[in-house]
Amino acid sequence: MMRRFAVIGVAFMMAVGAAAQTASAPGKPVEKVTVIQCGSLIDGKTRDVRRGVQVVVRGNKIESVESLDNSHPSKTSQGGAPEAIDLSKATCLPGLIDTHTHIVLQGDIIVDYDEQLLKQSAPYRAIRAVAASEMCLEHGFTSIRDLETEGAGYIDVDVKKAINNGLIPGPRMQVMTRALDVTGAYALLGYNWEYDFPHGVQVCDSPDGCRKAVREQISHGADWIKVYADQRTFPGPNNTIDSRPTFTVDELKAIVDEAHRERRRVAAHASGLTGVHTAVEAGVDSIEHGNYIADADLKTMAAKGTWYVPTPWLSEYRMQEFPEQTAAMKRSDAIYEDTFKRARAAGVKIAYGTDAGAFEWTITPAMQLPTMVRYGMTPMQAIQSATSVAAELFGWQDSVGAIEPGKFADIVAVAGDPIADIGVLKKMSFVMKDGVVVKR
Ligand SMILES: [Zn+2]
Repeated sequence: MMRRFAVIGVAFMMAVGAAAQTASAPGKPVEKVTVIQCGSLIDGKTRDVRRGVQVVVRGNKIESVESLDNSHPSKTSQGGAPEAIDLSKATCLPGLIDTHTHIVLQGDIIVDYDEQLLKQSAPYRAIRAVAASEMCLEHGFTSIRDLETEGAGYIDVDVKKAINNGLIPGPRMQVMTRALDVTGAYALLGYNWEYDFPHGVQVCDSPDGCRKAVREQISHGADWIKVYADQRTFPGPNNTIDSRPTFTVDELKAIVDEAHRERRRVAAHASGLTGVHTAVEAGVDSIEHGNYIADADLKTMAAKGTWYVPTPWLSEYRMQEFPEQTAAMKRSDAIYEDTFKRARAAGVKIAYGTDAGAFEWTITPAMQLPTMVRYGMTPMQAIQSATSVAAELFGWQDSVGAIEPGKFADIVAVAGDPIADIGVLKKMSFVMKDGVVVKR
């Protein structure tokens, strides 16, 4: 026994000695320096487009951002010869941010949602999510908030872990895991009652039952809690969209209280009048979709700082996929556009979110930027909703969403001028995440 302690003791002393040696080695490890010349630069925060800018990246952070006339190249050459990247014919921007994605969905939500849950194993869906993560990054989206796995358990937590550990390429992620809905409200539904079928959510009922579900999801790695506050929208009176609520206000309040106690926030899928109203009253932190929101609820959202994450491009996509639904969708789109405009007028914070995954990951989530410009944002406001404003929703405003010293080096570039044509952001020519070039 004593001898074993002695052996362990010697091993420990040797380990400490080795650590001390490493620590006392002269000089710090040399961090890679990259100097990027940008023809134009949109920093994600200010309204100006700067011409001829040099961005110096040291390691995974932005070290300096200077106009080419007053930059000092010698300053950047400490620690070895810097790598030069010439983007002098391009516009640089911060890595884009999508605050509403589904990395575990692959564009088949309507066509074969049931098949995904019934015929695809969780490992297979994880493999598809890995492929989607890489596509997401190549579209220039370097951060995403992923809004539940649709029946695939905690795969999002694992994908995020694999990205953060450098095993696979992908965006920075905040994840919601399984989402919550009440009994009888969420697919799969309508199958033989003699059997148990899987659901695209974790089912919970009653305030106590839902508190337990929140605790469970947080224990497995949920950064946010997602709830479905309504289901099935239908036209309401006077050009409104109404919906069937799911949770009671008491249940939602319990979910919000439990999540907030554990320092997590709550995102509510809410499409129509009743669902949005219930969610806003319960104090959720973000309203997802919000196809119709009453003025009174917009006022409450502005006062409480509740985020609005509209996803209007999805209906344009569905009109292409399902032309027979075009007439009905055009009617509801007009209501969506009006809600978007009233939300802006009411001073509600709008973050960029697309529901990517509900459409194929081969399609860039940048598709919605032109829609938001058509709905009245300037191109710069649309870009900011997908950079600095979205970063604020994440609570990551100190680390991403802008090109400025101290931020992570998440930098993208496009040919052309996004202010003249927001559509150029659909084609990324350069992507850097965390100081590493992903696409060039
Ligand atoms: Zn969604």
